[in-house]
Amino acid sequence: MRHGAAFFTRRVLKTGLLLLMLSSWSAQTSADTSEWGQSVPGVLRRFVPKGREIALTFDACGGPKGSAVDRELLDLLRREKIPATLFISGRWLEKNEGTARELAADPLFLVANHGLNHRPLSVSGRSAYRIQGTRSPDEVRREIGENAALLAGLTGTTTTLFRSGTNHYDEAAVRLAEAMGHKVVGYTLNGDGGATSPRKRIVDGLLALTGGEIVLFHMNRPEGATFEGLRDALPELKRRGFRFILLSDRPLRP
Ligand SMILES: [Zn+2]
Repeated sequence: MRHGAAFFTRRVLKTGLLLLMLSSWSAQTSADTSEWGQSVPGVLRRFVPKGREIALTFDACGGPKGSAVDRELLDLLRREKIPATLFISGRWLEKNEGTARELAADPLFLVANHGLNHRPLSVSGRSAYRIQGTRSPDEVRREIGENAALLAGLTGTTTTLFRSGTNHYDEAAVRLAEAMGHKVVGYTLNGDGGATSPRKRIVDGLLALTGGEIVLFHMNRPEGATFEGLRDALPELKRRGFRFILLSDRPLRP
């Protein structure tokens, strides 16, 4: 009897396991099989420079750990007159409307779209870093369009530059963004590793640039070393003759 029960249990377990494997296999095959990631076709990761030019971009992501303002960093950009493109999400905007207005009014900065809810951009709900992506074409349109409308209220112009939360995309979502008249902007250099890189790594990354790179930084994580790294790399970058541009200043390219 005991043997029989054990046999039965094993069979149930085996069948269950098989069903589980089959269902995960079918989930994989029935899901969107287009490319997914940070550099799928259509993502613009560089620009065409006139000499030694770099485009600094700063994301403002929002959320529980990402809704702060790196004041030291913004002060540094202003003091040194360094133009920068700021990708602002609807989540960050909600908590920082005054600051966002102030930045939008400063010609040194170009405001761009970092998504309404800071979602990876997918037509089928793919995730990145455990952050749930948009689940349908409609959600993609809302993620882009509703934040674009919020930002237009701030700046008086419509931004056509978009970078998703986590900078992850599937190809269909990129096509949708393009159909809405947006350019999807990635990066050449992950400048601050999501505001986790130590100062030295940030400096080394910047000093390895040759021109035409889009650098991804964060302006919402003052606890990181973004400010310190940029501050310490700037004198040498200037000595080497580098200039900084806004993403609207030059043609972007893959
Ligand atoms: Zn972000």
